[in-house]
Amino acid sequence: MNMPIYLDYQATTPTDPRVLEVMLPYFGELFANPHSAEHAAGRAVEARVEEARGEIAALIGAEAREVVFTSGATEANNMAILGAGRFRATAPKPRTHVITLASEHKCVLESMRQLEREGLRLDILPVQADGLADLSLLERTISDDTALVSVMAANNEIGVLQPIAEIGALCRAKGAWFHSDAAQAFGKVTLDVAAQNIDLLSISGHKIYGPKGIGALYVRRRPRIRLQPLFFGGGQERGLRSGTLPSPLCIGLGEAARVAALDMIADAERLAGLRDRLWQRLRAGFPQIQVNGSMQHRLPHNLNLTFPGIDAQALLAAVPDLSLSTGSACSSAAIDPSYVLAALGLSDADARSSIRLAVGRPTSVEDVDRAADRLVSAAQSLAAARPAAE
Ligand SMILES: *Cc1c(COP(=O)(O)O)cnc(C)c1O
Repeated sequence: MNMPIYLDYQATTPTDPRVLEVMLPYFGELFANPHSAEHAAGRAVEARVEEARGEIAALIGAEAREVVFTSGATEANNMAILGAGRFRATAPKPRTHVITLASEHKCVLESMRQLEREGLRLDILPVQADGLADLSLLERTISDDTALVSVMAANNEIGVLQPIAEIGALCRAKGAWFHSDAAQAFGKVTLDVAAQNIDLLSISGHKIYGPKGIGALYVRRRPRIRLQPLFFGGGQERGLRSGTLPSPLCIGLGEAARVAALDMIADAERLAGLRDRLWQRLRAGFPQIQVNGSMQHRLPHNLNLTFPGIDAQALLAAVPDLSLSTGSACSSAAIDPSYVLAALGLSDADARSSIRLAVGRPTSVEDVDRAADRLVSAAQSLAAARPAAE
């Protein structure tokens, strides 16, 4: 039996061995509390954590002190959206309107819905058939009352890259703060918080070959973005995130960012080549296949495909040696078809016939060829077993 082939790198990535090696001593002898400023052991860990913070900041053109560590992108998104929405709604000149897109991650949508329950006005804008934001609709929706706009940099199901710089400019012109969930984009494509007018940016460790359970939120200092904190306590992380930092994980995220900065261009080229090879082989073997989302504005390693008339669950069951999913990991156990694909205008039936494929650093040409062969033969036999259409 062959080793399973993992093609679910948008759900999570393995920790890069280079990252793991840098983290390990901080689980062992370098265990001191990074907030223990009274002894040298604590100060040494703190210095290494601050170096990691700088490595994260460098990858987005930020200053180290603008980076707040969190447990992941879910927490960063909650902190940004609830924190900014609540701050601005209760400011002396309140702004009480928030905007996001229908194709955002659940944790963005649910944080926005929480603000709505607290009395803010929420617009969830549709996306175009290719998954991209409609900029003129967005421009018309942003008003002098808009507190916050949240638009993800790269989508976790369809890999589509949003026009972040254009959206940032629209927000800045109207004084709306701009948050971007960059869990899938950070370390994969170039981000620059100054050039793109991003005020708040969410990062996750385990999507970029770093450890699970760590992430970060970029919070702009000039002009100053203020958040109501979600946690209260010792006042760590500029008072935004009380609690002892998990130093090994922080250092791991910094190293993952450093490695991503070095390898980003080469990785993107190699992975786009593998992704295109996979797409060509699948299309040659099963010509009815359709790709979801813009092929042009897309992460280099993602495919999201509809096999018309074929149940995606049956397809996955027929290829047990491939690690694949139909959509986002948080909802893949749910029976509901993907709301992201629905937002693109796919029918329920087509959404239920769709799978997400993502190649990653460890993927080889042989993996791609074997995965394509397995998927094509499984799809062909499921198609042949189908009762003929009337
Ligand atoms: C994975 C992911 C998240 C959640 O990140 P965690 O670090 O697992 O909490 C949020 N948004 C997007 C787009 C993601 O891909």
